[in-house]
Amino acid sequence: MDPVPLSLLNDFVYCPRRAALKAIEGVRSGNVHTVRGDIVHEHTDLAGYEVVRGAKLLRALPVCSARLGLNGKCDIVEQRPDGTLYPVEFKLGKRRRWDNDDAQLCAQALCLEEMFGGAVPGGAVFHADSKRRREVEFTQGLRTSTEAAIWELRRMIGSGEVPAAVMKPQCDGCSLREICLPEMAGARAARLFEVSG
Ligand code: SF4
Repeated sequence: MDPVPLSLLNDFVYCPRRAALKAIEGVRSGNVHTVRGDIVHEHTDLAGYEVVRGAKLLRALPVCSARLGLNGKCDIVEQRPDGTLYPVEFKLGKRRRWDNDDAQLCAQALCLEEMFGGAVPGGAVFHADSKRRREVEFTQGLRTSTEAAIWELRRMIGSGEVPAAVMKPQCDGCSLREICLPEMAGARAARLFEVSG
């Protein structure tokens, strides 16, 4: 099966239509959020490693899972003195209300477990604006919901169908909003039933 990018899983959990517009329609649009996000990631995009306080930090580590059909890269993977791997994902802004970042991080852990064999019990999201690091435990619940989202994303891509726009809180700050036009969704549907003349 063709691998699905980890970043697309993040989009899918944020909004399935957003992932479909990118994966099926090939839409790519930047707004201030994505441009700033790209700048945040510039610091982690150069592959390499360094040792900090006894932990080896692996930057821009490519990861994949044959079982789940995933590929992508981890911004940072800490290899702790006992050998445990600990992924850290850099994100713009403060913590958002949605589960997309946690799902992406958990999917990274599933890849690392498949590649290296050991358990990856937790990771962290580093929020650039607040400069806070939020620990994420990869509970069985998070693992189950992440795997379910991966299969649902794959099913959606296979169907070739783009879900209809639905106005929701996630639309605020979505870089595809001007293309998606969720505020027009109700109007478009209503026009189909208009009687002309
Ligand atoms: S604007 Fe809203 S409905 Fe459209 S892709 Fe973004 S989050 Fe989804």
